[in-house]
Amino acid sequence: MHRLGSLLSHKPLLNPRAPLYSLISSSTFSYSPNSIEIFYDHLLKSCNGSSSLKQIHSALTTTGLITTSPHLGAQIIIKYAKFDDLNRARLLFDNINVCYDKPTSFLCNTMIRAYANVGQCFETLKLYSFMRKTGTFVNNYTYPFVFKACALNLLVREGKVVHGDALKNGFGSDLYVEAGLVDMYAKCGLFVDCRKIFDEMSTKDLVCWTAMITAYEQAEKPEEALILFKKMQQEEGLLADSIAVVSVASAVGQLGDVRNAHTVHGYAFRKSLIEELCVGNSILAMHTKCGNTEKARLVFDMMMERDVISWNSMLSGYTQNGQATEALLLFDEMRDSDCQPTPVTALIMVSACAYLGFRHLGRKFHDFIVDSRMEIDTNLSNALMDMYAKCGDLEKAVDLFNGIPPTERNAGSWNVLISGYGMHGHGKEALELFSRMQEEGVEPNHFTFTSILSACSHAGLIDEGRKCFAEMKRLSVTLEDKHHACVVDMLGRAGLLQEAFDLIKEMPSPPSDGVWGALLLACKIHGNMELGKTAASNLLQLEPNHTGYYVLMSNIYAASNKWKEVWKLRQDMKNKGLKKPAAFSMIEYGKDILGFHTADQENPYRHEVYKKMESLAIEMKMAGYVPDLSCALHDVEEEDKERMLNYHSEKLAVAFGVLKIDPGMVIRVTKNLRVCNDCHSAFKYISHIYQRKIIVRDANRFHHFQGGTCSCKDYW
Ligand SMILES: [Zn+2]
Ligand SMILES: [Zn+2]
Repeated sequence: MHRLGSLLSHKPLLNPRAPLYSLISSSTFSYSPNSIEIFYDHLLKSCNGSSSLKQIHSALTTTGLITTSPHLGAQIIIKYAKFDDLNRARLLFDNINVCYDKPTSFLCNTMIRAYANVGQCFETLKLYSFMRKTGTFVNNYTYPFVFKACALNLLVREGKVVHGDALKNGFGSDLYVEAGLVDMYAKCGLFVDCRKIFDEMSTKDLVCWTAMITAYEQAEKPEEALILFKKMQQEEGLLADSIAVVSVASAVGQLGDVRNAHTVHGYAFRKSLIEELCVGNSILAMHTKCGNTEKARLVFDMMMERDVISWNSMLSGYTQNGQATEALLLFDEMRDSDCQPTPVTALIMVSACAYLGFRHLGRKFHDFIVDSRMEIDTNLSNALMDMYAKCGDLEKAVDLFNGIPPTERNAGSWNVLISGYGMHGHGKEALELFSRMQEEGVEPNHFTFTSILSACSHAGLIDEGRKCFAEMKRLSVTLEDKHHACVVDMLGRAGLLQEAFDLIKEMPSPPSDGVWGALLLACKIHGNMELGKTAASNLLQLEPNHTGYYVLMSNIYAASNKWKEVWKLRQDMKNKGLKKPAAFSMIEYGKDILGFHTADQENPYRHEVYKKMESLAIEMKMAGYVPDLSCALHDVEEEDKERMLNYHSEKLAVAFGVLKIDPGMVIRVTKNLRVCNDCHSAFKYISHIYQRKIIVRDANRFHHFQGGTCSCKDYW
């Protein structure tokens, strides 16, 4: 008892107007405290550690107040729960109850609340049934917490039973009970029940509205969430708080709705809500999902406080919007900050490396993960496999796959390796892995079929591809647009244009640009202008500003000498302000990456490289190479065409490789667009003349050139 004085000494003594009744007033009995109780109540309020709490508890036990003053007993229970000592809280609860014939609602509600707040669902429900068994009055302060516990553990059945009890006991239209129900059904994803209660409520507060909006947002029904949000503002005049803004921002992000993103951002800014970390994070994520990394970065830079979520969402925003280099720069900043990278950060950065295709960088990240003793779970292993496959190191990817214990491999692990084999043109291996996956009892999903169908397409395995496509129906895997795109691509490349077109016509839903794009590409390969026109007109309706489709169609016209049409398309592009994306290639040079643009004038190695390319052209011609002038721009002289062909970015990069990289080493080049026919043929010659292995990753797949042939067998 003597140490209690020290607790009191720097605190003001009694304040008779202190709100002592907060919990009691919600209960069903009236009660007026005496001065000694007020004294202890104060003491408890200022208590901020479990040792002083235990002292107060023992003082109250000595005075006997612990059983005679329900308020103080409850306060101690609340405090124990706050300090994570639910066992002591429960012990006290039981000790107090022993002194009475029947437990009081007030004390039971306190204990139920303590359990529910930490998600101890079964204890909550046990106590609830104890109340019912002992005939303790269950009221509108009991139900919401029981619902909360059910919601946290998704116990729908139990929740419904308690809902029934509430109706029977006449609490069906109590605001607190209804709000608890809306929250529970929302979290359990029962929209119909949820919406019914919500719509029937006579008054709804902000919490209710937010629960309903969040429910839609979490269930990825962003349109409904936004409609409701508008209704809340317009009909009820309620102003969104930070929790509502977080949900709305997420819904807007799901829709990729740039205009609403602007509005939500503005609102959060005006109300100063954006200063809260969770709101700042959600606004940041919303902008990245809308593809606006600049705005996201602005939010990020202005944040007064950042946590690992802020860093991760900025990093993944960059990666997902194709700005992997920015992600790398930001990652360096993160390491200099006081925020440590987590496995999620690693996952994002590994996929940034996969996107860039730099083997050296990828390895560095892998080392970083190992060195920082980060836990490598299956998802991170899968990401690493994917990265190695995309960086051209399929062997390492296979090693990693074999390193994952079979029981820990998930469908994703198989999918990544199947797709790895596919992009390197190893269709047979992909198919073998696909059968092994099924033998080992792993159910293929829609991603698996995308990987296997595209593997069949890259390797020209038409019959096998058709079989896999049929297999999907047998396994009742939902046929998605991307699967159709793969099959159209496969059939189209093989010249089965009519079959591809028939498949498109039979599709249950309108084909996307991916499907028409695959057909257009096939039409270009096989010079089918008529079908090409059909594909292009559909494409330009879906994606009127996609430069790639204009270029493809204009190539088809050019190949058939339809210059008027070529000119018209170019004019269309010009009028719309569309530009052909600039081609560039990168080459791994030791630990560095060197970039080359087409007809590069800036590169420090340009003189040597241009000279090398010219001599290479002569050597190739002597070996039988004929330049494919159709790959050059059409409105220049023949001789210029040939020279311009020599200066394609990928050729400059390969020439650099021949010049500078040790003869025993592989030349690894990445190109942002598809490799052109002429470069493809040139690299076959170079690989033969110089006995070099050249690996080119273009926008679509890998080409391994060796001894005068390419792994794609000219099928790409
Ligand atoms: Zn080229
Ligand atoms: Zn190839």
